[in-house]
Amino acid sequence: MNYEKELKEYYSCNIIEHGFDAQINSINLCCREGTGSFSRKIVILPNFSGAKIDWESFFQKKNLLRDLQKKGSTIPQCIGCVYLEKKIWDNNDYISSININNWIKCNANCIYCDRKEYKNKKEYKIYPIIKDLINKKYLRNPVDITIAGGEPTISSDFDKTLNILIKNNFSTIRVLTNAIKYNKYIEKGLENNLVNILVSIDAGSREIYKKIKLTDKYSIVWKNINKYVEKQAQKSLVKTKYIIIPEINNYKEELKLFIEQNYKAGVGYVYIDLEIGFYIKNSQNYDLLKEIYDLYLFAKEYGETIGIKIEAFDRIKIIENKLKK
Ligand code: SF4
Ligand code: SF4
Repeated sequence: MNYEKELKEYYSCNIIEHGFDAQINSINLCCREGTGSFSRKIVILPNFSGAKIDWESFFQKKNLLRDLQKKGSTIPQCIGCVYLEKKIWDNNDYISSININNWIKCNANCIYCDRKEYKNKKEYKIYPIIKDLINKKYLRNPVDITIAGGEPTISSDFDKTLNILIKNNFSTIRVLTNAIKYNKYIEKGLENNLVNILVSIDAGSREIYKKIKLTDKYSIVWKNINKYVEKQAQKSLVKTKYIIIPEINNYKEELKLFIEQNYKAGVGYVYIDLEIGFYIKNSQNYDLLKEIYDLYLFAKEYGETIGIKIEAFDRIKIIENKLKK
């Protein structure tokens, strides 16, 4: 009997099925906020501070959530999420989607950063966990790994974690960096077409950058982005992001300057997002959301005229869906 034939279609997402989300105090199911409901996170291992993981028990807990989807229900926090997809999912226990978000420290100080409340917390090491996953063959290609933080490149764990992933040919690995510090392992990953980076800059000018990041590193950031662009194996690996923060950078002129700066640096792909706190407060204010969406459309159109692909990121994607209904 062909077992695969017994599998049925159901709504789920790769994170429910094969995800691992390392957060500051816990291992969770998913890091996405606002894509499903806004209720609390789905915690799989609470009070986590870096202890060795019993993977069998981890998968057992995860399978309780997968079973809900298989039965045709939806995990309450996932109801309405744009990433739910109906298809045939496999039945196996492995990880192919990792979010590393346990790191707190940063060399910038963005006004919208949610890490500040944890500034006195000591981070656990992620490298031993990733190494264990690889050694036990629980991590399977193709993967979708995001390394975030804090600023990941200033973590003492970062270089060896990225290196072991590169050495084992895992792809794709996305690093969310502010690019204030240049990193040789990111460079290696870009050259080998295994790593891509996303740099949230949120400004088209040094003044607005300083206002948002509370640090004067605009020129250094673009210099580093330029160096990364020169190393990337293909044009889509270095991307930037502009998080719209109403009253600070929600101006066409600023967006235009930002897009032009990308053009000068050779960046071909740009994401537009909306600051999450603002979205949560105004998620039912359709007029306001439409204004933000129009700004995104303006950026998209302007980007096209100079050969830059502009895409909607999480919150803008959600607004797009809401406005279509
Ligand atoms: S919130 Fe969305 S992306 Fe996250 S696990 Fe649920 S369905 Fe998947
Ligand atoms: S770069 Fe990221 S981690 Fe650092 S302060 Fe800004 S939002 Fe926070």
